[in-house]
Amino acid sequence: SYRKGGYHAVRVADQFAAGRYIAQRKLGWGEFSTVWLAYDTKTSSYVALKIQKSAAQFVQAALHEIDVLSSIADSDPPNSKFVIQLIDHFKHTGPNGQHLCMVLEFLGDSLLRLIRYNRYKGLPLNKVREICKCILIGLDYLHTDLGIIHTDLKPENILLCSTIDPAKDPLRSEVSPILERPEGNTNCGVTSLIEKRLKRRARTAVAKISGRRTSTGGIGDVAKAGRNLDGIDVRCKIVDFGNACWADKQFAEEIQTRQYRAPEVILKAGYSCSVDMWSFACIAFELATGDMLFTPKGGQGFSEDEDHLAQMMELLGKMPRKIAIGGAQSKDFFDRHGDLKRIRRLKFCPLDKLLTDKYKFSVNDAQEFSEFLLPLFDFAPEKRPTAGQCLQHPWLNWDEQQS
Ligand code: ATP
Ligand code: MG
Ligand code: MG
Repeated sequence: SYRKGGYHAVRVADQFAAGRYIAQRKLGWGEFSTVWLAYDTKTSSYVALKIQKSAAQFVQAALHEIDVLSSIADSDPPNSKFVIQLIDHFKHTGPNGQHLCMVLEFLGDSLLRLIRYNRYKGLPLNKVREICKCILIGLDYLHTDLGIIHTDLKPENILLCSTIDPAKDPLRSEVSPILERPEGNTNCGVTSLIEKRLKRRARTAVAKISGRRTSTGGIGDVAKAGRNLDGIDVRCKIVDFGNACWADKQFAEEIQTRQYRAPEVILKAGYSCSVDMWSFACIAFELATGDMLFTPKGGQGFSEDEDHLAQMMELLGKMPRKIAIGGAQSKDFFDRHGDLKRIRRLKFCPLDKLLTDKYKFSVNDAQEFSEFLLPLFDFAPEKRPTAGQCLQHPWLNWDEQQS
């Protein structure tokens, strides 16, 4: 992907925007971009620099993302503080073409990492509550104030607010600080010598400007937190607005990552902000249990979509006929009675039973958590609570009730 139209190859200590930003270490990458920790010499702070691939469709996508992010940045706090902030954007020309770059506030590990680090066991419910509140305040702001649908909510698109001071740990790279390929392994032989030299170079570059001494060898937030996650500050923010759209101006029919996809999207029955609420509920379940709620697979004689619809109904009960047959795609899945054509026998298991039997929740915890989640899993999108309504739910305000 490091060719014309692809990623821009970054080296530690590279400068951007006429020297304003100095690359420190790679934070991550996606289909569209690589993301680097950079030092902002103008504000003497650390930022995340998202450098888009240069081919026309990626430029187009970045312009859209900048457009959405600008409308987020334009409006007022306090609610915007649970959504990533765009600080700056510019073009950078390199050997592979012209790359749009977004400067974003620097955040920490994703919720996916948090779940993985906890060995897929599920987080303590008080942490789940805190995270849910942040996501909901962020969503309420996007939906109500801006009319933006995120359309790709999932654990990897929610990042924890980092408590790490990059000045003390500026150079530990996610994969490779040199970054020739995103998946490249540079921990060997000659490369590691070069790496060492580059690390020193980046450190010196920042130390010169900031007058601060920096060191290497730190660890990530999640790893730092310890087993019970007590050390984790669970504030988090919604990121990755590459697929976001306006509620009144939609582009794509097929949205959302499979496991977090709402039924109306599968049925092609039109969608609104409530698709994000469905994904949110899937995330909340995953945080509390460590498992994805829906994991559809195609099989003999049925598709992934059909398995997905079957799994939903096994958990939530039969889809009302009117909804089942109401989408442009409905005829592919349902007969005129509203029964799945190719998956006839469903094994029903309600959510509270799943939580007690499989995940060993106490009866009380299971009941309260189900009462919070089930309204969000309403097959009728317009009946799902909004983010604002959800924030009023007693389950989220459990701590205050106790004291
Ligand atoms: P995708 O294929 O998911 O759309 P993308 O190219 O649009 O990818 P992002 O998902 O925005 O890129 O970012 C890629 C990765 O970089 C993230 O998964 C995360 O690990 C890291 N990252 C992104 N933004 C930040 C940030 N503000 N602070 C810290 N790390 C970040
Ligand atoms: Mg992403
Ligand atoms: Mg993206």
